[in-house]
Amino acid sequence: MRRARPQTRMDKYERLQAENQALQQLLHQLVGDAAYNESVMQRFQERELALLGATDLADLIERLTVGLRTSFALDSVQLVLFDPHGVLDELLTTLGVPGCRMPHLRMERDVRKALGRYPDLHHPWLGPWKRRHQAFPAPAGGLRSEALLPLRQPDGISGFLHLASRDPGRFQHGQGTDFLERLARVAAVCLENAVNRERLRLSGLTDGLTGLYNRRHLDARLREELARARRHRHTLGCLFIDADHFKRINDTYGHAAGDQVLVALAKRIRDQLRGSDLAARYGGEEIAVLLPHTDPENAARLAERIREDIARRPVPLNEGGQVAVTVSIGVAALAPSPNADTDDLATSLLGEADRRVYLAKQRGRNRVCSED
Ligand code: GH3
Ligand code: MG
Ligand code: MG
Repeated sequence: MRRARPQTRMDKYERLQAENQALQQLLHQLVGDAAYNESVMQRFQERELALLGATDLADLIERLTVGLRTSFALDSVQLVLFDPHGVLDELLTTLGVPGCRMPHLRMERDVRKALGRYPDLHHPWLGPWKRRHQAFPAPAGGLRSEALLPLRQPDGISGFLHLASRDPGRFQHGQGTDFLERLARVAAVCLENAVNRERLRLSGLTDGLTGLYNRRHLDARLREELARARRHRHTLGCLFIDADHFKRINDTYGHAAGDQVLVALAKRIRDQLRGSDLAARYGGEEIAVLLPHTDPENAARLAERIREDIARRPVPLNEGGQVAVTVSIGVAALAPSPNADTDDLATSLLGEADRRVYLAKQRGRNRVCSED
């Protein structure tokens, strides 16, 4: 048996030196990791602050999708929100930004089906990109890895944030998810707050039955729109819509059925409008519509489309049966002169549209009148 050579001072020195080098390397790596983590944390913090600073719901959705995609250099970011009763859809439509116009947002009515697509309902899921997780068509070039972040709220999951990259190494199973989890929590809270804030804001501006704007808001917006039309030399169109023989509908089918007919009328009118148009309940069964950038011919054409759509399809009632209803519409349009008084313009535009509704009634109802 060979005996081990006794360690010389030189051996000891070399061993210590190697150990020292390894420690230095480790330290260097740790410092590098810390700096990297710090920069990642900073980027996440900046994103969180951006979410907290969103001005309204539409802005928040934009920051959650386009904003995250740009600042994290991702290839796709999609937001899926559960909306089983269509409340969110309705809210965005009222705000003038229907969900269908937001390309990275998807509202899921069928929550069970949507949840079935996702692999983990409680924590971020990272891994190779899978088609069945995707709510939208993937961007050209293909995606290779993804992170699915559930948006958790006190009463359950409100949706998912779906981040994806062409880089297969970007999101991998086993990677730390603390930052992503935190981001998802902040996003969920911001979304809940923004939805509540919009609801509160709208409740002061809208009519409880139809969801259309109320008359107070119409008066304010009318002045704003007239001032804008005057400044930019545009024409502001206006429709006054009055349900025909509505009293008879109440008398025949009952007040509750009358209410349902009013709700349906409001929806059919709104469905024909652009995001920049504004419909308001002016009185009982009267609805006024403002149409920025619309000349008299186009306003009359739209009025005819609305009249025809309402007359063509009777309104189904919740308790069965249906009610045929028609409307009379007065059309007016104004291209304000540069020094006209806004109050005078408002009175003149509404007055003219109102007068023409009465002409339409006199001429037999279920018609549009755009001239005296
Ligand atoms: P016209 O064709 O001349 O407009 O006849 P009309 O019966 O529609 O007009 P009138 O102004 O005589 O009656 C309007 C009716 O609308 C009377 C009122 O009870 C009804 N109405 C107003 N607001 C509501 C509402 O919120 N719900 C229901 N169900 N009815 C309403
Ligand atoms: Mg009336
Ligand atoms: Mg009426």
